[in-house]
Amino acid sequence: MSGSKCTRLSGPLVKQLLDSVDSILFDCDGVIWRGDQAIPGASQVINLLKEKGKKVFFVTNNSTKTRKMYADKMTTLGFNVKEDEVFGTAYCSAVYLKTVCKLEGKVYLIGGNALKQELEAVGIQQTGVGPDLITGKQIDWANVPLDPEVKAVLVGFDEHFSYMKLNRALQYLTQPDCLFVGTNTDTRLPLEGGKAVPGTGCLLKAVETAAQRQAHTVGKPNNYMFDCVASQFGIERERCLMVGDRLDTDIKLGSNCGLKTLLTLTGVSTVADADAHQKSGCVEKQGMVPDYYVESIADLLPALQG
Ligand code: PLP
Ligand code: CA
Repeated sequence: MSGSKCTRLSGPLVKQLLDSVDSILFDCDGVIWRGDQAIPGASQVINLLKEKGKKVFFVTNNSTKTRKMYADKMTTLGFNVKEDEVFGTAYCSAVYLKTVCKLEGKVYLIGGNALKQELEAVGIQQTGVGPDLITGKQIDWANVPLDPEVKAVLVGFDEHFSYMKLNRALQYLTQPDCLFVGTNTDTRLPLEGGKAVPGTGCLLKAVETAAQRQAHTVGKPNNYMFDCVASQFGIERERCLMVGDRLDTDIKLGSNCGLKTLLTLTGVSTVADADAHQKSGCVEKQGMVPDYYVESIADLLPALQG
């Protein structure tokens, strides 16, 4: 549809783009909400898209919520959303281990309750969730008790991450047949006022470094999140749009999967970042240049209301 990339989406171009797609994938944080606050106008946009017959999905790298928790949060914020339209990394990691890896056995989980619940929902038992008890006794680190049924290590966001967990993961991953999966590689979670906290990518890097192995990652920009949606809803790539606030995860996922891409400026990345990728001459970085950008997804409203 467009020759040059990173075009500002406005005026008649909005309707033209929306008419050219049947399905739209929305990233969550920085696109439809920031933390606990909905982006102004986002719920109207989503609800109108659905009223007009578009298939709408939500793809988030955040592994701290189940599908149900996301659906509840969205409903509270005024979005008309069903649980099966939400693809978070907690859910997708569980489905990946079950259907792609065909895991028979338990998971050693570095992660929270949402991951535990999504694993259990597909019939996978886990060990590891919650804080490790420190007994005060001398620990023989290379001989900590292990569960012989564990056949995979899964690393997601875990506020109880510790040396004990890192060591346990290493001991399991020393077994060559133990699978190694990470939910996502986001290294920093940006907060309001320019602040940030460490993301799951930091924990995953620590485990990879200790185990001297690379995890398979489920989250964006890996294709699996899209494959998961497409396998359940039959999506035509050429008629699908990915909307995100990050060039290295959302826009790259869209490019990797052959989708149209739209950057929104309510989150992490800027037009200057996209321009820098475009001008770098680096082939790999061209996948991080969106087709279009908007200030906010609320910019889609006039075309939907007209
Ligand atoms: N991981 C965690 C733990 C988060 O809290 C967030 C954002 O809040 C993300 C990842 C990024 O989420 P998204 O893919 O929706 O931008
Ligand atoms: Ca985001």
